[in-house]
Amino acid sequence: MCGIVGYTGPREAYPVILKGLKRLEYRGYDSAGVALLDGDLNVYKKKGKVAELEENMIGTNMHAHIGIGHTRWATHGEPNDRNAHPHLSQSGQIAMIHNGIIENYAKIKKDLLAKGYNFKSDTDTEVLLNFIEDIKKNNNCPLEEAVRIALKRIVGAYCILLIDKDDPHTIIAARKGSPLVIGIGKGEHFLASDASPIIEYTKEVVYVNDYEIAIVRPDELILKNLGNENQTPFITKLDMELAAIEKGGYDHFMLKEIFEQPTTIYDCLRGRLDTEKSTITMSGIQQYADKIINANRIMIIACGTSWHAALVAEYIIEELCRIPVEVEYASEFRYRNPIIHEGDVIIAVSQSGETADTLVAIENAKQKGAIIIGIVNAVGSSIARVSHAGAYTHAGPEIGVASTKAFTAQLAVLTMAALKIGLEKGTITKERYQQLAQELADIPEKVEAVLKTDDQIKKLAEKYKDARDFLYLGRGYNFPVALEGALKLKEISYIHAEGYPAAEMKHGPIALVDEDLPVVFVATKDSYHEKIISNMQEIKARKGKVIAIMTEGDTVTPTLADDIIVIPEADEIVAPMLSVIPLQLLAYHIGVAKGLDVDKPRNLAKSVTVE
Ligand code: GLU
Repeated sequence: MCGIVGYTGPREAYPVILKGLKRLEYRGYDSAGVALLDGDLNVYKKKGKVAELEENMIGTNMHAHIGIGHTRWATHGEPNDRNAHPHLSQSGQIAMIHNGIIENYAKIKKDLLAKGYNFKSDTDTEVLLNFIEDIKKNNNCPLEEAVRIALKRIVGAYCILLIDKDDPHTIIAARKGSPLVIGIGKGEHFLASDASPIIEYTKEVVYVNDYEIAIVRPDELILKNLGNENQTPFITKLDMELAAIEKGGYDHFMLKEIFEQPTTIYDCLRGRLDTEKSTITMSGIQQYADKIINANRIMIIACGTSWHAALVAEYIIEELCRIPVEVEYASEFRYRNPIIHEGDVIIAVSQSGETADTLVAIENAKQKGAIIIGIVNAVGSSIARVSHAGAYTHAGPEIGVASTKAFTAQLAVLTMAALKIGLEKGTITKERYQQLAQELADIPEKVEAVLKTDDQIKKLAEKYKDARDFLYLGRGYNFPVALEGALKLKEISYIHAEGYPAAEMKHGPIALVDEDLPVVFVATKDSYHEKIISNMQEIKARKGKVIAIMTEGDTVTPTLADDIIVIPEADEIVAPMLSVIPLQLLAYHIGVAKGLDVDKPRNLAKSVTVE
C-alpha cells in the first residue's frame, strides 16, 4: 500500500505533493513525508497523518521545483518518524520513497553492514536505497543505471521514486507489483500511485508497467525496461472528474460513497443492460462466452469485501448457469499449488485492481492456461491489464478505506454476467431472464428507498454503539452479506463482529448469546425466510437483541425483532445489493458515534499492494 507522489517542473513542488498525499492517504496513514530539492536536499517526515506533517512544515523553507512525497502503511519497522519515508542514502545524496516490500532485504542489509553502512531506520526501503547508492559508487554510473542493476537483484514488490542531489531536475522511478502513473503536463511531470493527485493538472497519463524504469524530467519522459531498452510510453486519457474524488458536502467519503450507490449501480448497468431489447452487452464477457459456457468450473479469486461479492456470485452463477464455482482467498490460492486445467475460467475481483495477492494469483493461473476475467473498478489498473478480458464496475474512485459502493457494483456486474451466460447456455428460461433483468434495472431506485432509513439507523447506532461484540447472521444469498456487515463494523468501529450462516450459529456462536449481544439478521423475504425466522426465535429464546433487516410487508419479523430496518421487496438474486446498505450505514454511524476516523480506520489501508 502506501501512496507516493512526485513532481518536477516549474511549479512549487510542495503544494502539489501535499495535496497529492492527501488524496492518496487512503492508501496508508502511519506517517507522511516529503523530500524537496533546491540546491540542498531536505527531508521532512512525521509519524501520523498528512495533516500532522503539514503542521510540522509551517515555518520551514518549502521552496523547490522538484520533490517526492510518501504516505506510509508500515510493513517493516513500526510507524514512527525514523521509519517514515523519504529515506536518505548514507551519503545524504539520494532521497527515495517506496511502496511495497523488498523480500530479500535481510541478506542485502547484512552485506551492506559488513561494508560499513549503517542504517537509521528499520525499513526494507533504506536497505534498497543504500544498495543502489553502493552500486552507483562502485560502478561510478548514473543513478538510473544503478537502479537498474539493483532491481535485477531484488525480490519483492516496489514502486520507487528517487531524486539525486547531483541531478536537480530528474526523478527516477521504477515499479514492479505496486502501481505508478505519470501525468504529462506542459513542461512538467507528475508521478503518483493513482491518478487522483494528477487529475487537476492534466488528463494525459502513462501507466508504467512492471519492470520499467522511468527517467522523468520537466520536459522529458524516458521509459526503459530492465534490459536498458527504450520503451514507448503509451499515453492514455483520464476519464475521471475532480469532483469524483472530493467529499461533495458529506462529512466523510464513506458516507458519500454509500449515498452514491443509486448512481454507481446505475452507471454500472448503463449501456449494458437493455430491458426493452432484453439484451446484456458485455464485450469482454461475450468474447469468452463459449469458453465460460463450456467451462467445467469457475474459480473466483478475491480478498476482503471483494471476496464477499465473490461468494454471492458463487450462489448466483451456480443457480443461473449451473457451473460449479469455487471462491478462493487470493492469498491462499497463490501459495497452495492449486490444480488448474487449460481452459479453466478464473474471475478476479478487485476494487483497486492492484491487490497484490490477487494479481500474482492470476498471473500464475494465466501461465497454466486459465482464462482470466477481471472484475475491477480502477480503470487501467494492473489486474485489468493482466486479464484476458473483463468488465469494469464503473463505481468511480472509492476513497473511504471501507469498501461500499465497489461491493454493490461488483454484484451488479457479476449478476449481469451470470444472466448473460445463463441465457446463452440455456440454463435459465427467457422469462426468468427478463424478470431478473427488470429486477436489476429496478435496483438503483430501490437503493434510493433503502437510503431513506439513514436517520433511523443513526438512532440504532446510538443505541448499540457500546456493545462489545456483534453477530451477523444470514442464509443463502444473504450469508455473504452477513459476513460483509460484520467486516464493515470491525473495520470502522473496532467492535468485534462475526458473520455466520444463520443455521451454523447452533454449532458454536450461540454460546455467545446473552442479553448484551446484538444479533443482526439479514432476513429479507427469500426461499430461506421461514428457516431464518426459526433462527431468530432461537436467539430470542436466549435473550439476544435482534436487529432485523427485513422486507416490506413481512408481518412475522417485527414480532420477534427488537429493531427492524425495512427495505423494498426484491428477487433474492438481487436482494444483497439492497440488504447490505443498512449494514454499511450501521457501521458508519457506530464509527462516527464512537468518535472514530471512519475514512481512515486504524491499521488499515486501501489498495492492498503488499502480500
Ligand atoms: N516496506 C516499506 C516500509 O515499511 C514500504 C511500505 C509501504 O508500501 O508503505 O516502510
